[in-house]
Formats: sequence, C-alpha cells, structure tokens
Amino acid sequence: MSHQQTQAIRIQTERTNEMEHSTPMFLTSSFCFDNAEEMRAAFADESDDNIYSRFSNPSVQEFTDKMVALEGAEAGYATASGMSAVSGSFMALLKQGDHLLSCNSIFGSTHTVIAKYLPKFGIEYSYVSANATEADWIAAIRPNTKLIYLETPTNPGLEILDLVMIGKVAKENKIILIVDNCFATPVNQKPIDFGADLVVHSATKWLDGQGRVLGGVVVGKKELVKDIYLFCRSTGPALSPFNAWVLSKSLETLDVRMERHASNALYIAQQLENHPAIQTLRYPFLASHPHHSIAIKQMQNGGGIVCFELKGGLDAGKKFLNKLKMLSMTANLGDTRSIASHPASTTHAKLSDAERAAVNITPGLIRISVGLEHKDDILNDIIQALA
Ligand SMILES: *Cc1c(COP(=O)(O)O)cnc(C)c1O
Repeated sequence: MSHQQTQAIRIQTERTNEMEHSTPMFLTSSFCFDNAEEMRAAFADESDDNIYSRFSNPSVQEFTDKMVALEGAEAGYATASGMSAVSGSFMALLKQGDHLLSCNSIFGSTHTVIAKYLPKFGIEYSYVSANATEADWIAAIRPNTKLIYLETPTNPGLEILDLVMIGKVAKENKIILIVDNCFATPVNQKPIDFGADLVVHSATKWLDGQGRVLGGVVVGKKELVKDIYLFCRSTGPALSPFNAWVLSKSLETLDVRMERHASNALYIAQQLENHPAIQTLRYPFLASHPHHSIAIKQMQNGGGIVCFELKGGLDAGKKFLNKLKMLSMTANLGDTRSIASHPASTTHAKLSDAERAAVNITPGLIRISVGLEHKDDILNDIIQALA
C-alpha cells in the first residue's frame, strides 16, 4: 500500500461480522462496553476503545487515517469544518502573550479569527505580504512568535508562497509552521515535505469535491495534534460520522478528480490568457504567473482555480456573472460543477478599496473553480459571457 492512490482507496475500518465490502457508516453518538472494567479502562485512557463520538468515531477515524497517509503525517484530527480545524489549532497551541505571524493574503474567516478573536485572548498577530522575501519574514519574527500560519495557493488571489524558504525560516527560529493546503490538496502539494509541522484543510472543498458536506482536518506532528485533539474533544467541533463517511468515499477518487480539474483549468487558462476582455489572468502553471518558478518547485500541477481581472472593473464583474449560462454562482469551490465568483461584490465587499488592493483583490477579479464538465463547455460559457 505504498502509493497514495492505493491508500486513499484501501485504508478502511476493519470489516465487521457482516462482511461488507464498502465501508460501513458508524452513525452512533456513543459506544457500549461489555463490563464495568472495560469502561473504566477506556475512561482512564488505558485502552483505545471508542467512548463517545465527540472524542472518536470509526468513520471519522477512517477519514483521518487516509488524510494522515496522504499528507505523510504522524497523526491527525478531523473537525466539523475547515474553520474549526484552523481555530482549534490556534486555541490549542497559542497562549496569552504569544505572537502569530501570517501573510495578509489568507482566507477571509481565517483573517477574522486572527484579527478579531485572538487579540481578545491577549494573542498578538502581524502580517507580511505574499511577496515577502526571506529577509522580510525573518524581520517580522518577534521574540514571542510561536506560530507561522500560511496558505498557498492563496484564496482568492492565487498567490504562491515559497514553502522551502518559509519552512527553513520556521525551523531555524523554532517556530511552529501551519500550512492551509486547501487549494492544492495532498495530491498536488505536500507541505510536510517542506517543513510544515501541521497541515490544515477545509475538507468542504476539493476533498469532498461534490459540494455536499462541511468538514475539516488537521494533520502533522503527533505531540501538536494531541494538544489540538484534547482541546477539541472538550470544546466540541467534532466531525459528524455521516460527513466523515461521505468524505472518506470522496478520497477514493481524489487523485483522478484533481488530475482532471487541473488539466481542465490549464486549458481554460491558456485559452483565455490573451482574451481582449481580460486585463490579466493568473494560473500558477502559466509562465506569466508572478510566482511561477516557486509553483513548479512545490506543486505537481497548477490546481483547479483560475483567476482573471476584467477590463471594466466592478461593473464588468457583475455583468459577467449575470451572463453566465452554465457556470454556477455560489459561495463554494472545488466542485464537479464549475463555479464563478466575484470577490469584490461578495466575499470581500466589506473591505475598503485599499484593503482589497493590499491583498490583490481588484474590482474586476473573477475566480473560476474549474469543474469536471467537458473543458470546451466550460470555456464556451465563459467566452460567451465575456462577449
Ligand atoms: C473554505 C476555506 C476555509 C474554511 O473552510 P470551511 O470548511 O468553510 O470552514 C479555510 N481555508 C481556505 C483556503 C478555504 O478556501
């Protein structure tokens, strides 16, 4: 079982007496004991027996085990959403007086947790830009910097951060490095190979891949995951066994899905790059991407997201969305169905122009999550909407 495609398919909860082939779903809140001694031992952590699904559940464990294998991690813990994996990691690993260093290009809700909630608990933060050099990262480190948190590629700007460089800076300064690997998935990029201590995911996106359930997971160093597990089992952001079952089945097809998402996205990016209605287009595996040389160093392919800036700004962005016939207008990504979104009028509408500009969200920015429909049907819908 050395290959990840095989692990994503063959890691499975031990077969029950029913001799099922497909994995069963353990939709149960709690688990039974044969006698008082077994129950005592489980509560005393002397056995691995399941007690209660807020602590552990076989369906959730199966999904976690697959993610641990795919990311090359030591341990993992699955959560109810990507944001509970992110916030649970922060709450478990940071304490009053610590400093968190991140990049200003991060997912909106992650920014809210860092900038609005962590300071309530006496935790400082600061950001560098996505173009920060090694010297910039080193200069941003404070004596109390406990954690570096980053996302690459970033959502929605598709910036690429150099995992080798930041991994080295974190290691040399004994700082925990957490990478949000949501956009790439472990099929495309393995942050642990570059020095990440922990990897977090919104399983809601490509891991599910069909827009059905919310989920999250954090994997990485055993002792760090243990702290996160102990925090979460007391505070309760447990992944539903139903969602875990769906997600575990999804991982069986992750490899083939991601390959097709990426080849469709590359095709769309190449075909649209010189379109007269488009000012600039970003795709990590096009030579025109500002961080192309970093992308090809750390990613297997360019992923499933293409971004472009329309000539004509905000109005052009809204018009484009209204003219689409097939692509969905919805607040998700990483689905079999292609999705178009316009951050300036939706997810990032509350920011000022200057704040948006600082994270490269221009008024006419369109983000396409390229689905698994035929590549020409996706392209033709975009082209007719650009006309
Ligand atoms: C969606 C997303 C999250 C949050 O995940 P949820 O499952 O929605 O809680 C975190 N990071 C990135 C990059 C995302 O795209």
